[in-house]
Amino acid sequence: MSSSEHAGFGTRAVHAGQAPDPCTGAIMTPVYMTSTFAQPSPGEFIGEYDYSRAANPTRTALEANLASLENGRHGLCFASGCAALAAVLHLCKQGGRVVLSDDVYGGTFRLFDKVYRHFGLQFEQADLTDPAAAERAITPDTDLVWLETPTNPLLKIADIQAISAVAKSNNALLAVDNTFATPYLQNPLDLGADIVSHSSTKYLGGHSDLIGGALVVNDDEVLQRLKFIQLSVGATPGPMDCFLLLRSTKTLHLRLDRHCDNAEKIVGFLENRSGIRSVVYPHHAAHPHHDIAQRQMRRGGGIITMTLDGGIDSARRFLERLRVFTIAESLGGVESLVDHPAIMTHASVPPEQRAAIGIEDGLVRLSVGVEEAGDLIADLDHALG
Ligand code: PLP
Repeated sequence: MSSSEHAGFGTRAVHAGQAPDPCTGAIMTPVYMTSTFAQPSPGEFIGEYDYSRAANPTRTALEANLASLENGRHGLCFASGCAALAAVLHLCKQGGRVVLSDDVYGGTFRLFDKVYRHFGLQFEQADLTDPAAAERAITPDTDLVWLETPTNPLLKIADIQAISAVAKSNNALLAVDNTFATPYLQNPLDLGADIVSHSSTKYLGGHSDLIGGALVVNDDEVLQRLKFIQLSVGATPGPMDCFLLLRSTKTLHLRLDRHCDNAEKIVGFLENRSGIRSVVYPHHAAHPHHDIAQRQMRRGGGIITMTLDGGIDSARRFLERLRVFTIAESLGGVESLVDHPAIMTHASVPPEQRAAIGIEDGLVRLSVGVEEAGDLIADLDHALG
């Protein structure tokens, strides 16, 4: 099934980019565990295949599958979400300027701040959920806008369509990190983004068993530039990881509906529970950007952020008392995980900056899995004491 066919999401999740193997009829795309490909005559390739850093058939199937899920024309896969982000940064001109959300994944901030700044790229962080702040930050000398929505970990929601209009009027590319929402809940290309980025380590992989990244674009020229960077820098995923991802995306819609069902029930429990100062969830009526979240996200997702009364001590006690939720970095797997951003995922963001944007010491991020909602709620209730 070609990625251009517009079947429903679930049908594309199962079939896009894949067809039974022409030699054997194998239903699953084989794992092409090969570094190189025989050439019938020097310089003559079978299909596009000469060397697996450039292209590998298992990766080709995955790239087509992800492009289809994001309603895009072209997919490109990388060895990690950070490698995908780094490839996008290579699109900037020397000394170029990037505007990024003020609340981004800590590793994203680190890559900008500690690696690419040394090469002369300039970065400005802005609250891109505030249209006036976005207008001020995005100027004609901006090469790229890097937008996370929902943000990690505060779940702030930016209006992709509005930011896209500002980026376009300044001739800047807009890249949206769609890791938290996934293509099942949100399609940034349809809202004007030029590039969609994923840490496929998270919901796309869904089983906490691989590290991966992906980009999806529509524009042929942007594709060619990114493909060249992918080939030249070489952070490509191996065929086994591509196979595992293809296996996972087939159930993305099923998993996401369960993640969302469970998260909604947990939000209902938490908002009435003592010991909690605030609960943040994109589709919750109390969310400050609830209207935008309703408009651009089909459901609220599987991540809940909450702030406990009592700061770091009560947060640590809560995490240690959990039995079904596991204390771990990462998110988006079938198992429920809990993260303390200030100590764990966002430790690389300076404390004063964390405080300024609201990552408090009592803040906890829940990645709600697909277990029984009742068991998850009982676990939270017990841990809250
Ligand atoms: N983007 C977001 C929103 C993330 O949460 C992460 C990792 O946690 C990344 C990007 C980086 O992805 P990876 O860990 O696959 O390199």
